[in-house]
Amino acid sequence: MSRYAEPMARLIEELKKLPGVGAKSAQRYAFHILRSSDEDADALADAVRVLKTSLRLCSICNNVTDVDPCVYCTSPSRNQRVVCVVEEPTSIAAVERSHYQGVYHVLHGTLSPLHGVGPDQLRAQTLLRRAEHGEVDEVILATSPTLEGEATADWLATALRGFPVKISRIATGVPAGSDIEYADEVTMARAMEGRRAM
Ligand SMILES: [Zn+2]
Repeated sequence: MSRYAEPMARLIEELKKLPGVGAKSAQRYAFHILRSSDEDADALADAVRVLKTSLRLCSICNNVTDVDPCVYCTSPSRNQRVVCVVEEPTSIAAVERSHYQGVYHVLHGTLSPLHGVGPDQLRAQTLLRRAEHGEVDEVILATSPTLEGEATADWLATALRGFPVKISRIATGVPAGSDIEYADEVTMARAMEGRRAM
């Protein structure tokens, strides 16, 4: 049985669903929100609501966006024919640190047979279609250098092979087994420069 009044217990239960938030942190956050001003509490609740109602996936690259197509896919200053493939929308920030000037394609995951993620679960279809229609000159595979990331890059390289497109894989300037999200600017720039053909 919870020692807390029902509204407090309810908020703690919701906060505990967040990644990395255990019972203790959830209680701390809930009491912080209780002590904060009405405006701050409202702003938090409103930000969560607006996030869910206004954001969607870009119909071209699957990036999370409030406008479709997203800012990258409509940018006249970016090379729309060079596509960098990443696992998650959060990986884009890491690649941006390399001063990359092409566009993106977000897979929202990697191949993971153990977790039941096969090629059909990856969001690769729009990329394959663009390559098939000759809309892409180069595909840079920037999945993480983990087992799943490498398997995903290999699978995509094979799937793209029949199309007139240059395929490259980022260099291992990104430490093997790590997530590209945590790569710093220099490492990421080297990884992009040192990419090799697949
Ligand atoms: Zn887009």
